[in-house]
Amino acid sequence: MKIVIVGGGIAGLSTAWALSRDGHQITLFEQDSVPNPRGASVDQHRLIRNFYSDQVGYCRLVASAFAAWDQLWRALGRSHYIETGALAISTTPDDWTARSRRTMDTVGFDYTVLDDATLAARYPILTPAAGCWALHTKRGGVLLADRIVADLGDLLRREGVDIRVGCRVRDIDPARARITLEDGTTAAGDAVVIAAGAWLPRLLAEFAGRVTPMRNAVLYADPPQDLAAAWAGAPIIVDFGGEDDAYAAPPVAGCGLKLAYGAHRAAGDVEAPREPWPDEAAAVLGRFAGRLRNLPDYSAQQMRICFYTIAPESRFILERLEQAWIVSACSGHGFKFGALVGHATAAAVTGRYGTPQTARWLAGLGPAPDAASDLILA
Ligand SMILES: Cc1cc2nc3c(=O)[nH]c(=O)nc-3n(C[C@H](O)[C@H](O)[C@H](O)COP(=O)(O)OP(=O)(O)OC[C@H]3O[C@@H](n4cnc5c(N)ncnc54)[C@H](O)[C@@H]3O)c2cc1C
Repeated sequence: MKIVIVGGGIAGLSTAWALSRDGHQITLFEQDSVPNPRGASVDQHRLIRNFYSDQVGYCRLVASAFAAWDQLWRALGRSHYIETGALAISTTPDDWTARSRRTMDTVGFDYTVLDDATLAARYPILTPAAGCWALHTKRGGVLLADRIVADLGDLLRREGVDIRVGCRVRDIDPARARITLEDGTTAAGDAVVIAAGAWLPRLLAEFAGRVTPMRNAVLYADPPQDLAAAWAGAPIIVDFGGEDDAYAAPPVAGCGLKLAYGAHRAAGDVEAPREPWPDEAAAVLGRFAGRLRNLPDYSAQQMRICFYTIAPESRFILERLEQAWIVSACSGHGFKFGALVGHATAAAVTGRYGTPQTARWLAGLGPAPDAASDLILA
């Protein structure tokens, strides 16, 4: 097949890779560059972990996500996954971590429970509240996102995928599988895949009410000298307890220490300048008061502003519109599934998987398509 892809983030690139491996002819249009610092897929790291609150479907899907990444590492000749282990802290009954524990029991994933004293002894970076407890898994860690996107782009170019950068798609004709660029040039194929990230509602008006582009910010900070070694050996911390969705990625593999919280997000314009707000770094750092030891001794280094789309219940979207497939795997948790989403989207486009069943699977609502057993997927 001849397939046109719009978007050079992890979703578009992974789909291109899965299709090109099967011998299809791909042209990928990216409005900026590959890697694209304005896209959601480019940051030093993104977290991958089995904890998924009460979303059983996504918890199960993480095993397939790891399998899909392993397949990419084999193709790249190197891995960009650092297994730090993952930690989630419960501070109130039935909170995110407590629900994740129940889901892990349902799915049958192994974990260890740590009490407050063990947490304090094992992780001197933390100031655990009396009576809190934590889930720990050995599996989980960071995906080195910017290196993955850069290597994947290079791999695709070597394999003959036609990647056109600086090409903004203005219009899509799903019936003819045709796109029109800003300058009026057109390109057509047997199918179009739209993986436009937070720009999706700008490109297809019917998604404007369904996915919301949101701005968020992450902070890179230096820990105090006496905690540097403890941080270097720390797991990713996916939940600190509380409702603000605070998390931390340790400084591994040349990356910085990243601190962020999901509740910081706000609806925004994806084309707006990516400037931090006044005192935004202090606001993000302040969220970790009472959670990290010696917080006043941390020094903020750099903020990264990023946009993602939020869909209802944070579920991924895969939809077919005539000869166009629209994929929006984000809601702030899509990178870990990037290689898998590309694989699944490619299979839907070529008809190997049915699109409705694949869509339910990627939305965490249904089993893997029957044909998936012949591939990488457990
Ligand atoms: C702050 C933050 C933290 C996150 N943390 C995690 C995490 O820890 N773990 C996790 O799993 N996920 C995380 N995510 C989510 C994850 O990064 C995204 O789900 C994923 O990167 C989305 O990939 P994408 O390819 O869909 O979008 P993008 O990477 O944004 O790619 C879309 C691309 O399409 C291009 N494009 C758009 N419109 C057009 C057009 N008209 N013509 C041509 N090109 C176009 C854009 O330029 C862009 O390069 C986080 C996201 C953010 C923002």
